Amino acid sequence: MPTPSLIDGYRKFREKYKSDHEVFDRLADEGQDPKVMWIGCSDSRVVPELITGAEPGELFDLRNIANVVPPATSAACATGAAIEYAVIHLGVDHIVVCGHTECGGIAALAAEPDPDVQPHITSWLDLARPAREQALASGVAEEDLYLETIKTNVLIQFDNLRTYPCVAGGERSGTLTIHGWLYDLHTGTIKAYHPESKEWVSIARHSRRAE
Ligand SMILES: [Zn+2]
Repeated sequence: MPTPSLIDGYRKFREKYKSDHEVFDRLADEGQDPKVMWIGCSDSRVVPELITGAEPGELFDLRNIANVVPPATSAACATGAAIEYAVIHLGVDHIVVCGHTECGGIAALAAEPDPDVQPHITSWLDLARPAREQALASGVAEEDLYLETIKTNVLIQFDNLRTYPCVAGGERSGTLTIHGWLYDLHTGTIKAYHPESKEWVSIARHSRRAE
């Protein structure tokens, strides 16, 4: 069995399941109808439902190393399948691509992985490598390069998402909006990219509760 803490957590969940059974019954009987697809990193510290307060049924989650969207022409089709399912079948209104500080996948771009030892990591990180190349070309200071690469990686996924006809079509028709977010592990805050100003601004700024 896994660790005792997971079993304890499961016992607590069973209590919640019983007390909130109407919610879980509805989800089981009526199916899922999430409005948001979440594309985030697999990092265990960046838990979408924890940092957004989303309940079961609210987020269609896709997590992989460094929150990467392979272009539609890529042989890596797991991510594309999830995108097509979310957009075409579930009809989500929003796709959030959320990067985070201290991302190990992005840090790994600074080194060349050994393809003989970790062939899948090597291939996967090649998909994120343009982010480092763009960050390097931006002329940003050395101490800012890591964070700049993390941010650039989020924005590159916008372009990659638009290689999927269902995403491009959804944006054109106004039924789908793509958002770029950045979660800061040190402060627990989320910033969103604003294309007009090219700035990252706290998502709480426009909410009723100021951060
Ligand atoms: Zn990460």
